[in-house]
Amino acid sequence: MKRLWGRKVSDLGFGVFVTILEHAARKRGVRVEKVERYFASSRMCSGCGSVRWDLCLAEREWVCEKCGTVHERDLNAAINIRDRALSRAVGDVRPAERAVAV
Ligand SMILES: [Zn+2]
Repeated sequence: MKRLWGRKVSDLGFGVFVTILEHAARKRGVRVEKVERYFASSRMCSGCGSVRWDLCLAEREWVCEKCGTVHERDLNAAINIRDRALSRAVGDVRPAERAVAV
C-alpha cells in the first residue's frame, strides 16, 4: 500500500484511489462518504434544489430557472456532493425551504 502514495489518481484507477482514501481516513479517524453514481450533482441547483435535466456537458455555467442563481458547473457539483455527504453524516443540511421542495 505504501508504495502507491504520491501517484496520480489517473495512474491508479479510481477504485485504488478510493481504497487509499478510505485507508488514510481510517488512520485519521474520519469517514469517507460516497454519493450515488447517478446523483445529479452538476444539474441540481445548490441554492434551491431544482434539477435542470436538459443541461449538457458543454455548458460550464448556467442559471437556475427557478431561483436565478448563476452556477459554475464544477463548483455547484462540489457543493451538492458535500451537502449530500453531510446530510448522511449529520442530517439534512439543506435550507428549510429547499428540504421541503425536493
Ligand atoms: Zn435554484
